[in-house]
Amino acid sequence: MIKINFEVFTRTLEKIENTTSQNEMVSIISRLLKDSEAEEIDMVCYLVLGRIAPGYEDINLGLSEKTVQSAISIASGVSKSQVEEETRNLGDIGEVAGKIIKKTQNPFKECFGYTGELSIKDIFQGLRKIASTGGKGSQDIKKKILASMLIEADETGRRYIARLAEGTMRLGVGDMTILNALSLAFLGSKRKKPVLEHAYNISSDIGLIAKVLKAEGIKGVNQIEITINRPIKAMLAQRVSNFEDIRKKIRSRDIAAEEKFDGERIQTHKDGKNIKLYSRRLTDVTSQFPDLVENIKKYVKVEKVILDGEAMAYDFENDLFGSFQILMQRRRKYDVKEYRKKIPVKYMLFDVLYVDGNSFMHTSYPQRREKLERVLEESKYIALASRRVSSDLDNIDDFFQECINKNLEGIVCKSCAEDSYYRAGGRDWTWIKWKKEYISKLSDTLDLVIIGAYAGRGRRSGTYGALLCASYNHHDDTFETVSKLGTGFSDKQLAAMPEKLADARVDKNPARVVVNKEMEPDFWFDPEYVVEVLGSEITKSPVHTCKWREDEKQGMALRFPRFIRWREEKSPEQATTSDEILQMYKGA
Ligand code: ATP
Repeated sequence: MIKINFEVFTRTLEKIENTTSQNEMVSIISRLLKDSEAEEIDMVCYLVLGRIAPGYEDINLGLSEKTVQSAISIASGVSKSQVEEETRNLGDIGEVAGKIIKKTQNPFKECFGYTGELSIKDIFQGLRKIASTGGKGSQDIKKKILASMLIEADETGRRYIARLAEGTMRLGVGDMTILNALSLAFLGSKRKKPVLEHAYNISSDIGLIAKVLKAEGIKGVNQIEITINRPIKAMLAQRVSNFEDIRKKIRSRDIAAEEKFDGERIQTHKDGKNIKLYSRRLTDVTSQFPDLVENIKKYVKVEKVILDGEAMAYDFENDLFGSFQILMQRRRKYDVKEYRKKIPVKYMLFDVLYVDGNSFMHTSYPQRREKLERVLEESKYIALASRRVSSDLDNIDDFFQECINKNLEGIVCKSCAEDSYYRAGGRDWTWIKWKKEYISKLSDTLDLVIIGAYAGRGRRSGTYGALLCASYNHHDDTFETVSKLGTGFSDKQLAAMPEKLADARVDKNPARVVVNKEMEPDFWFDPEYVVEVLGSEITKSPVHTCKWREDEKQGMALRFPRFIRWREEKSPEQATTSDEILQMYKGA
């Protein structure tokens, strides 16, 4: 049975949009989820996130602004140029749709195929139809379906439909917010979220978890298994500030030190001839790497497998790894063929998570490595990460030097203990990274989320003078400020900043962002863009909210921050956590 009426749904979206409290946001969503039936709860989750599928599916709705304007024009009878002018005036396609379109006879009813009163399912399916319509004349059909939906909805509904269609519905809700809301709705408290988080880490599908939770309860959620074509959250590495600490932290006698590659993390899902590649953000990047796909087909010797590794730019003539910056040129939708030749890649594998129906998540690292060696026929194009296994730290240090001489970033030391499982999304002491920067006493960089900006003055007028950056508090699902970043940008990067960040601009403090009065920025951004920042030290701070202690009235700050690069491959929830910053402060 479908219960959620679209009008009720959009009234709720309005409430979510208007709240500035993360707790309230979770309560509102939680009530909505409680009221949803099992057949629709997944759609509710996706739409609240502004999507029509789990994030990893390559289903792209994002119609161009022009197409949405055209649909508004045919739905309202108002000329296209007038719709364009209204868009310029109001600055939001949703407001334009809400204002201009009036309820009239719907000449495109048959395109949309809804029945009676609009339900959330009608809208969801309409949007899916828009996304899946392709080929000749598809633009026209897409516009008609959209126009039809816009006519049938009420004013509030039109606002959200237009934003969803354009891919600009920003409510500041993240997957973790929905997990909190699910936990509150069905398990009685937000604190039960970790139970759901495990299923999320191995399935990456919030809709699936909601559906199973509603229909089968927590027992059903616990039975969710890893599956081909549902990406698994990558396991991450801890850091130490002294090399000797690696010995203290790794609990097995032997330490396996592997080469550390600075490329792009790629998880492969092979199902016979069907190969899918997922990035660190768990988005589908298969189309960017046709060469990897071909080589996986050729050299991976099992039917069904999930592999973890790093794609590296590679100079095959001179047998040399290229830098991350070189590889980034492969991140493109167009000219893939040309860049495949210009920047060839080599896939360096370091883990296997699933083989022919069997999960290897709960198998120790030594056994996984052994399996990996059997699964792969090594070649020029795909190879295993080289490694040295030893209980002697001096020996590990020698291997580290060899890696540095090969122009690699460092090593990842892995535990060989019996319980050295693959911990999806986990960052614990089973894997520890050690990089060359640590040696030269530069501290590790931080990946921070841009949540605000200050207006530039003088040479910087017209652009931003500095950015307000935050770390992620994964306990509360909030973003806490830690640094004001104003150096390290080139003039060109600086000038391009307002445009680059434009789609994340919002007019008030987003609900999940925690900022002290003293640091309030001139412009707010939804947590979306991640930057890599190098700082000199971490100190206590009375103005930043990272790891805020009410008794001391102090948080933590990164001093003398310098912009290094954009980290497009990281989602805001994958930024450096507030806990990690505290750990760096303590020098652990
Ligand atoms: P993180 O991924 O830990 O959030 P990051 O993206 O800044 O941080 P680093 O801190 O440099 O990356 O190191 C961790 C990353 O190193 C892993 O996420 C993985 O992508 C990469 N990596 C390279 N080689 C290996 C290896 N042999 N084993 C595991 N990870 C490796």
